[in-house]
Amino acid sequence: MQLVGEEKLKELEENYKNKSLSYWKDWKWQIKNSITNISTFEKLLNIKFNDEERKKLEEITSTFPLSITPYYLSLIDSEDYKNDPIFLQSFPSINESLVGNHEMADPLHEDKDSPAPGITHRYPDRVLFHISNVCAMYCRHCTRKRKVGDVSSIPNREELKKGIEYIKNTPQIRDVLLSGGDALLLSDENLDWILTEIQKIPHVEVIRIGSRVPVVLPYRITDGLVEVLKKHNPVWVNTHFNHPRELTKSSKEALRKLADGGIPLGNQSVLLAGVNDCPEIIKKLCQQLVKNRVRPYYLYQCDLSEGLAHFRTPVSKGIEIMERMIGHTSGFAIPTYVIDAPGGGGKIRVMPNYLISSAPNKVILRNYEGIITSYKEPDNYKNPDCSKGCEECKLLKNTDESDEYRAVGIEKLLMDSNDTISLIPKNNNRLQRREDNED
Ligand code: SF4
Repeated sequence: MQLVGEEKLKELEENYKNKSLSYWKDWKWQIKNSITNISTFEKLLNIKFNDEERKKLEEITSTFPLSITPYYLSLIDSEDYKNDPIFLQSFPSINESLVGNHEMADPLHEDKDSPAPGITHRYPDRVLFHISNVCAMYCRHCTRKRKVGDVSSIPNREELKKGIEYIKNTPQIRDVLLSGGDALLLSDENLDWILTEIQKIPHVEVIRIGSRVPVVLPYRITDGLVEVLKKHNPVWVNTHFNHPRELTKSSKEALRKLADGGIPLGNQSVLLAGVNDCPEIIKKLCQQLVKNRVRPYYLYQCDLSEGLAHFRTPVSKGIEIMERMIGHTSGFAIPTYVIDAPGGGGKIRVMPNYLISSAPNKVILRNYEGIITSYKEPDNYKNPDCSKGCEECKLLKNTDESDEYRAVGIEKLLMDSNDTISLIPKNNNRLQRREDNED
């Protein structure tokens, strides 16, 4: 049901007040009724911008569109919307019109590293495959502002086939990351088609999907979608939660469905001034993610995309957050803090410094409490001899999967082809006695 004008507004207001209405949880209804203009937003949240502000905001949204699902909008605290992390991520700021001369439309040079339509090939063994330009919501901090929302350039099947062809013809690619836009906004059928085509390529070992759907449109995680993802296992899904407030009952349910479907889940957050630039917020977010079976993966320094200066923090803020997490909470709840190098250099990990000095046989380290300690290095370590090349290397020759029949003892007793009749622990007293008597 596509609603228009006043009628749409009335329906949205009704739904906003009464989220139990059946179509509130229909993801297609949510998309069709996304809030895409300033005045609807004002009316729904009962807030008012002055004429000058509204004019500026409208100018901004004519370049990078506004689109918020009713679900995500309903999470905003309208009493204190100016400090609300949901509002700040979804609603334009007038600061977006300020473009610094160090800012770029494509700071990561994704388009320059594109050998085929939709493909960014930067790292040796993996590619980014942009399969859609549409997102459930247009995040104001998006690094791909230049692309998302541009419905005129949504890749069609012919273009997608060219991207798939490139992957097919490039044997070093073992990992394909489907992104966009949001890959999970494709229909189940289209997603199934793309996953099937990629999975037919023998050298592709794993497919990843980067998606904000579990955060801004959790109802999209339907049983049907989970079935499609399950069918193409291993498919990893990386979500994009930035604040603990985004972990609602519905988003937790979406994560539960994915995790129960056997889909490995990770999360990539962006460090955003005014939204989550606080060690306690990031720690709480990561702990809650782990509780919901999502492994925090990256914490990104905000990219140098145009109009994002108001979201950027100094790098030292990220280091402070890492310092206050490492050692203070479970290691697997701690993401890796990275800066995506401007110009396409890829992700660079940034950490507090724990190695404080070294000598040829010793390193001096400090721990999270400030304890300074030494670690004695081996005196007789022999570095593997690489001079003969990998073909000759014993280590590398031994990387095939183990044959479990060689390792599992009970199996020997069960197999007719093996004449072992018993497995006896070492130093068995009874057998030792037997041996002693024979002597
Ligand atoms: S979902 Fe991702 S690609 Fe889409 S607007 Fe948000 S950050 Fe950008």
